[in-house]
Amino acid sequence: MSDIKLTNQTSTAEVRELTRLERIGAHSHIRGLGLDDTLEPRDVSMGMVGQQAARRATGVVYKMIQEGKISGRAILLAGRPGTGKTAIAMGLAQALGEDTPFTTIAGSEIFSLEMSKTEALTQAFRRSIGVRIMEETEIIEGEVVEIQIDSASGTSDKSGRLTLCTTEMETVYDLGSKMIESLTKEGVTAGDVVSIDKASGRIMKLGRSFTRSRDYDATGAQTRFVQCPEGELQKRKEVVHVVSLHEIDVINSRQQGFLALFAGDTGEIKSEVRDQIDGKVAEWREEGKATIVPGVLFIDEVHMLDMECFSWLNRALESDMAPVLVIATNRGIAKIRGTNYKSPHGIPIDLLDRLMIISTSPYSEAETKKILVIRCEEEDVEMADDALDLLTRIAMETSLRYAIHMIIAASLCATKRKAGEVEIEDIKRVYSLFVDVKRSTQFLMEYQKEFMF
Ligand code: ATP
Repeated sequence: MSDIKLTNQTSTAEVRELTRLERIGAHSHIRGLGLDDTLEPRDVSMGMVGQQAARRATGVVYKMIQEGKISGRAILLAGRPGTGKTAIAMGLAQALGEDTPFTTIAGSEIFSLEMSKTEALTQAFRRSIGVRIMEETEIIEGEVVEIQIDSASGTSDKSGRLTLCTTEMETVYDLGSKMIESLTKEGVTAGDVVSIDKASGRIMKLGRSFTRSRDYDATGAQTRFVQCPEGELQKRKEVVHVVSLHEIDVINSRQQGFLALFAGDTGEIKSEVRDQIDGKVAEWREEGKATIVPGVLFIDEVHMLDMECFSWLNRALESDMAPVLVIATNRGIAKIRGTNYKSPHGIPIDLLDRLMIISTSPYSEAETKKILVIRCEEEDVEMADDALDLLTRIAMETSLRYAIHMIIAASLCATKRKAGEVEIEDIKRVYSLFVDVKRSTQFLMEYQKEFMF
C-alpha cells in the first residue's frame, strides 16, 4: 500500500512504551451502561446500579461517539470518591465495543514514566485514534460448474481444477492448496455460487442459486447463471483492519516491529516519524483507502495533571483527528498542580470552559446494597442476609470501596471456619483486622507523636 509499515518490519528508532493502568477486577462486573433501546438507564442492568442522571448523560455521549459527531470534545465526570465515575467510563468502553479504540490512563501515570509528560500524553492520544484501512482486491463471482480434486498424491498434497461459470464464460482454475482448503471449509459443491478472492485464494459460498440460475429457452438449451451484474471481474473494497495511530508509530519506529507493542521501555517516538505517518494517513483518507475512527481517551484522577499537560490537552483537542476525551476527578475547588492558583476540580478555566460536565451523586443505602450483591456474585461469594445488611451499613459509614474489598477477605474467613457462606462474624472479623480510612486517620491523630516525621 505504501512505504509506511502496518505490520512487523521496522526501522531502528527506539520507542518508550506507555504502560497501561488496569485495575483488574475492580470493575469486572460492569458490562455496559445498562441502557434500554431509547438510551434510558435501566434500574439495575449490565452490572450498573442507579446513578441514573449520569448514565443517561453518558448514553447521549455514547450515541454521539457512535455517530462520529463529537471528536475532539471533552467530558468531565465529577463526583465524590466511589460514586462510580470510573465504572461509568468502563461501561462506556464496553458499550462502544472493540472497534472503537478506548485508552485508560491515570493522571499520575504521566509523571511516573521514563518519558516526557507530553510524549506520554501523545502516545495515549494516538492510541485512541483508530485508522480503518481498506484494500482493493479482485473478486470473481460465479457458479461452480465442476470441481475435480486429485488426492492421489496424499491428503496433504491435493491439487485440482475448478470450472467456474461467470457472466460471459466458463473458466477453469487450477486449485492450489489454499483454494482447496477454503473449498472444504465452505463445503462448496457444483451448483454453488461462490466468490473467489484472487489475492488470497479464499473461496466463499454465496448461496446456491441452481434452480434460478439455469433457464431453458424454447429449444431446451440451457443458459447459464448470470451472477455478476457488472461483469466478470468486480473490484471490491474490503476492510482490512483497524489499527491505532500509535501502533503504526511504534511499528515504524523500532527494529522489533509489533513486538515493541508488548515490550515497554525503550524511548520516545521521533516527531518526524509521526509527521510522516500523519501525512501518509491523510493521503490514504483522500484516496478513500482509509478512514479515521476517533476513539476515547479516559484520564482518571485528572487533577494530578499540571499546567503543561492541560495546555497540551487544550491544543491537541483542536486536531481534526482528536479522540473524545473523558476525564474524571473527585476534587472540588483545588490547586492546579504546580501553581498556586485554585480552580474548580483543579482544572484550568480555559479547559473547563470546553468541557461537558457530568456529575455523579452518592448512593442510597438500597443502591449500595445492590452493588454489594452484584460484587458478591462477581466474586462468587455466598453471603447471609444479615451479613449483607451489616456490610451495607459499613459501606454507608466508611466507603463503598472498603466494603467491596471486605467481601473476599470475609469469604476467606468463612472458608477457614469451613462455612459455606459469609456470616456476620466473618464481617466483624475483617472489620477488626483491616481498618478503613476514617479509623486509620483517627489512630494517626491519637498516636501522632509515635510516628516518624
Ligand atoms: P474515585 O473518585 O475514588 O476514583 P470513582 O467515582 O471512580 O471513585 P469507582 O471506582 O467507579 O468510583 O467505584 C468504586 C467501586 O464501586 C468500583 O468497584 C465500581 O465498579 C463500583 N461501582 C460504583 N458505582 C457503581 C454502579 N453504579 N454500579 C455498579 N458498580 C458500581
